[in-house]
Amino acid sequence: MICLIPVCQGSAERVAMSSFNPNADQPLNNTPLLSVRDLRVSLQTAQGQVDALRGVNFEMQRGETLGLIGESGCGKSLTALAIMGLLPERAQVLGSVQLNGAELTTLSDAQLCQMRGARMAMIFQEPMTALNPLHPIWKQIAEPLQLHQGMSVTAAKARALELLERVQLPRARERLDAYPHQLSGGQRQRVMISMALACQPDILIADEPTTALDVTVQKEVLSLIRQLVSEDGMGLLLISHDLGLMREQVERVMVMYGGTVVESANTQDLFEMRAHPYTRGLFAARPRLGLKRGTRLQTIPGHVPEIFNWPQGCAFAERCPIAVPSCAVVLPALEPVRPTVTDPLTAHWVRCPIWQTLEASA
Ligand code: SF4
Repeated sequence: MICLIPVCQGSAERVAMSSFNPNADQPLNNTPLLSVRDLRVSLQTAQGQVDALRGVNFEMQRGETLGLIGESGCGKSLTALAIMGLLPERAQVLGSVQLNGAELTTLSDAQLCQMRGARMAMIFQEPMTALNPLHPIWKQIAEPLQLHQGMSVTAAKARALELLERVQLPRARERLDAYPHQLSGGQRQRVMISMALACQPDILIADEPTTALDVTVQKEVLSLIRQLVSEDGMGLLLISHDLGLMREQVERVMVMYGGTVVESANTQDLFEMRAHPYTRGLFAARPRLGLKRGTRLQTIPGHVPEIFNWPQGCAFAERCPIAVPSCAVVLPALEPVRPTVTDPLTAHWVRCPIWQTLEASA
């Protein structure tokens, strides 16, 4: 189950861990596959050090799917990069990220390199920029196999073919020696997926994996990712701003705004009832079937504040229809929407103490 959990503090400093084992297999009993606790990231900008993630908490078990949704600049991709250890230089990390019980925030760069590709993998938004234009695709798929599993070139090439067939790349054998520019966008994304799956990672992070694809290919690629995740029993963290896609692809959704999670619920619950004013705005702004021609979509007034202008409290305060002066001063805690349902594994959580005000005025 995916759950929100209480916070705890950790160290940002990366030090070697004597117990580090990138090949540790299954989680220990009851150890979540991925555990993120009070994850905080501050970045160095021209305006000085800014808090870009302000305490993200969740857990995920093997085989589970979790969606992160929100506007650009709210912290979705940064959360993914922090998990992968791919933050910009001089970023400061606090809190804890554990994979199979192993703390990642304290690993050295060399140790993180051993984890990436082998235990955790990421599919990026634009495969053309993520693939190396100078190497044939088989070489790029074979690289993690040679690096992490010590495969010979011949064995890695044979495995690359198997992987390309598994992701249903048409005429995979003929395309082994193709370069990225010789493939379509959908085909390149299939290559990225086969690279990500090459070493059978425990967790797959897909950051807007279909944004660059047309609608029909999007659906195919997402169904493929979901099928492969289910077959291999991985955990899937899917990042998107597409609500329809979330509804079809993930079991639980976390809505992010201003570097923190403002609402979290099982997907079905969230689609039945939204609590946070920001989530409501997002849902109201989505295009829906059946809208009359000429109907204007609703928008959320204003725009996401620049990171260095976030108020101390709720970052949505300037755009919120029910904000009160104290909102900008203190960041509210996550609280259960239904006080009687507080099981961290299944409850619906919201970071707004007066969300019912909007409910009453709706
Ligand atoms: S009412 Fe206040 S705390 Fe709630 S979403 Fe609006 S600004 Fe944020």
